[in-house]
Amino acid sequence: MVAFDLDDTLAPSKSPLPAPIADLLRSLLERVPVCVISGGQYGQFQQQLLERLDLTPELAQRLHLMPTCGTQYYRWDGTGFGQVYAHTLTADERDSALASLRTRAEELGLWETETWGDVLEDRGSQVTFSALGQQAPVAAKAAWDPTGSRKSALRDAVAADLPGLEVRSGGSTSVDITRRGVDKATGMRALVDLAGVPLAEMVFVGDRLDEGGNDRPVLDLGVRCHAVHGWEDTAAFLGDVLLPHLDDQRG
Ligand SMILES: [Mg+2]
Repeated sequence: MVAFDLDDTLAPSKSPLPAPIADLLRSLLERVPVCVISGGQYGQFQQQLLERLDLTPELAQRLHLMPTCGTQYYRWDGTGFGQVYAHTLTADERDSALASLRTRAEELGLWETETWGDVLEDRGSQVTFSALGQQAPVAAKAAWDPTGSRKSALRDAVAADLPGLEVRSGGSTSVDITRRGVDKATGMRALVDLAGVPLAEMVFVGDRLDEGGNDRPVLDLGVRCHAVHGWEDTAAFLGDVLLPHLDDQRG
């Protein structure tokens, strides 16, 4: 099995799959099962990946999708990709996360009233605070917290309220709350049972395998990894190394 990060590995960040990668992924799916694992939501998988891949049912059966670092899992069900499971936050966890974000943001003077869309968002397995709203323009977001100190202050205050949950500062104005210890290694471990493939028979391709990067937990788990810088690198690895190697093995 070959597993991939999505943003800056298969596609530019938040952008659709380039045509050469779509062709190479279809060729790979003809040979081995493939997994895509990302911190992003399933909606991003649809827009960036599935709409560009245009898979036959036979190839779709071999594709495993793990949005939000594997706290959700989607497989082909014969007519479309369906959710197999989602480890959502409990109602208590969600409510205390939402309450803490609101209270601490107000205390710190970070609760904005002029916003572009909702400030608090319940994404099932994740609760997200976006200071200026989900649809805020990039320039406004960049100007809100140029040093990152406002976000860090909120993150620290909320983390103290929620010792059982993971509180991370995310994009330019956001703070994300998930189950504790959820990262891409969690998803890869789950995949062993879900796909029936041992870790030793997996290869992972990602752009952030460096120390502190969001792909790093997969390397630390002991999975064979290949580091790339963008989709062009991934295309070269697939076309020049991996696909020829798989064809050699088949003899
Ligand atoms: Mg990435």
